[in-house]
Amino acid sequence: MNKTDKKAFTFFVSMLFICVILILFSLARYENYTPIIKLNGLKNEVILMGEVYDEKGVKAFNGADDISSRVVVSGKIDSNKPGVYKLKYEVQNQEGKTASETRYVTVLEGEDNTSVSVVDGVTYVNGVILVNKNHGLPSNYDPKVNHEALKSLRLMQADASALGLDLTMVSGYRSYQTQVKLHDYYDLKYGKEVADTFSAEAGYSEHQTGLAFDVGYADSSFEYTAEAKWLENNCHYYGFIIRYPKGKADITGYVYEPWHVRYLGRELAYKVKESGLTLEEYLGVN
Ligand SMILES: [Zn+2]
Repeated sequence: MNKTDKKAFTFFVSMLFICVILILFSLARYENYTPIIKLNGLKNEVILMGEVYDEKGVKAFNGADDISSRVVVSGKIDSNKPGVYKLKYEVQNQEGKTASETRYVTVLEGEDNTSVSVVDGVTYVNGVILVNKNHGLPSNYDPKVNHEALKSLRLMQADASALGLDLTMVSGYRSYQTQVKLHDYYDLKYGKEVADTFSAEAGYSEHQTGLAFDVGYADSSFEYTAEAKWLENNCHYYGFIIRYPKGKADITGYVYEPWHVRYLGRELAYKVKESGLTLEEYLGVN
């Protein structure tokens, strides 16, 4: 071999060596990995009928790569129907290797003896009137303001006033017909989609029960007032709850309304407050 040949040979061998290394590297990187999938939360979850199932998801890895976003979930849970539901989580890596996990969610009928009854079109859950986007009131349901609730409201306003806080009532009992007009007005002003997030369709307003009041002022900036803070921390002592808490719009159907209180009586209001749940969650209904 002359000098040029030798150089070419060395170059060829080096290239070959690099190719082999690259091939081995890619084999090691891709072919040796089988994805791993791991459940967050429990393999067997149990919820009560009507409760919201809190999906904790899964984590999936291919080697050190987090491929959780590639996980496909199949299966559905009907939390209103007792039974055992199966959720299957599957993931596939780029080489087509798969991994899967299964979770079983049991929906129990519950021994909390929740009793739901509808009397003349009005829904009662364990004797408590429930009005939300799923449970309306007939147009002729016209109880006017509830005197016990109003008395309690006056007491709460007086106590707040002694502390220099203004909890003036800006809205109380509203008849079906009043709500028709109000909702039409909001529809026109904001469009139906926006209006529906804060204003109820006639027959679906809690104000029609005579048990709900708006105090202070009904604007999102009310949240930052001393009045709102005091109301949130004290209204249960007077039998009220903040009916539409922050971050619970998916359950209550309404965005945060720190000014809207619903009368439940002192005992129940206290229990609901203590539970940290919305009225729907506390009663175990939708
Ligand atoms: Zn209101």
